[in-house]
Amino acid sequence: MNIHEYQGKQILKQYGVAVPEGHVAFSPEEAVKAAKELGTDVVVVKAQIHAGGRGKAGGVKLAKNLDEVRTYSKELLGKVLVTHQTGPEGKEVKRLYIEAGSDIQKEYYLGLVLDRETSRVTLMGSEEGGMDIEEVAANTPERLFYEEIDPVVGLTGFQARRMAFNMNIPAKLVNKASKLMLGLYQAYTDTDAAIVEINPLVVTGDGQVVALDAKFNFDANSLYRHPEVMEMRDYDEEDAKEIEASKYDLSYISLDGNIGCMVNGAGLAMATMDTINYYGGSPANFLDVGGGATAEKVTEAFKIILSDQNVKGIFVNIFGGIMKCDIIAEGVIQAAKEVSLSVPLVVRLEGTNVELGKKLLNESGLDIVAAGTMAEGAKKIVELVG
Ligand code: ADP
Ligand code: MG
Repeated sequence: MNIHEYQGKQILKQYGVAVPEGHVAFSPEEAVKAAKELGTDVVVVKAQIHAGGRGKAGGVKLAKNLDEVRTYSKELLGKVLVTHQTGPEGKEVKRLYIEAGSDIQKEYYLGLVLDRETSRVTLMGSEEGGMDIEEVAANTPERLFYEEIDPVVGLTGFQARRMAFNMNIPAKLVNKASKLMLGLYQAYTDTDAAIVEINPLVVTGDGQVVALDAKFNFDANSLYRHPEVMEMRDYDEEDAKEIEASKYDLSYISLDGNIGCMVNGAGLAMATMDTINYYGGSPANFLDVGGGATAEKVTEAFKIILSDQNVKGIFVNIFGGIMKCDIIAEGVIQAAKEVSLSVPLVVRLEGTNVELGKKLLNESGLDIVAAGTMAEGAKKIVELVG
């Protein structure tokens, strides 16, 4: 789960990480009021969306007076921002963060992420701040530094100082920077974050080390024990189909393609997507209905797939192990009745109660193309979608 920059900064503040003063605003009036309260010569009007790259896309504006704050706020609120992280459809700006302008001397990069290869939280830092860190990693990997953190000991002062030196933080600010890193690590572990990224971390004219941006992503499995984090969830920023799916405990991810997939088991779902790709098609979603799905759950899954305007065909690929094929068939039939099915449907069933499942589908009167294998099914749906 992601949160907005201003929410991330609220968390950072609690851990002693320096952030500029700021207020969230939902209207130009609130923005102007916030700027008045800040009372600084320059305020920054920042679009709050769950995506980075706002600066380049015109979502971060420096305002030198209240008129400019009003103008920029009006311009940004309701605007669809397209950044390299939003996809071509962009994201509508519904909130702004009005923040005191920082006197930036230099921008750096700082991040914490779980490295799956070492199974350790890793601190990453670079002198190349304000840029895409993926580009730094690809083009100038020698300028990106890592500190692997022992989970028992935690981030040590020594590691933090070594990172600050590697990042070429001015010597007299190394202690401030390393203290900030320790606070950042504490925030990361306390909130069960998966990623925390400060890009840029800045050194200011008056010798402060400040987090100018904040990206938090939390481990979804831990959210049950973090009501304070759950409160920060902004459903407007999430895919409506994914929210609906989560209500029924379905693992669903929207994708760009046009073939809806209903599969059980994450491995089979991945293999199905690969096979569709192999035959020249493109999946509209990843969907794992899980092991013990009920007919109701399958019905909801089917409806979610059909609610996607891009879906031009559906491929149901089920291996009934724990899941029984007749339950799947019932769900498909029920859903097709509730939502008129206007796209081709290919079904491949295998496993427990497969004969019963096939019989139900055959007698349903639905226009279903049966497939004997995964490859055959994928090929057929790709052909039908065209
Ligand atoms: P994004 O990563 O989405 O582009 P950032 O918060 O990193 O958004 O802002 C982009 C750039 O805008 C920063 O690299 C920095 O140069 C400038 N900026 C952001 N916040 C401030 C601020 N409070 N004061 C001065 N400049 C800022
Ligand atoms: Mg940034």
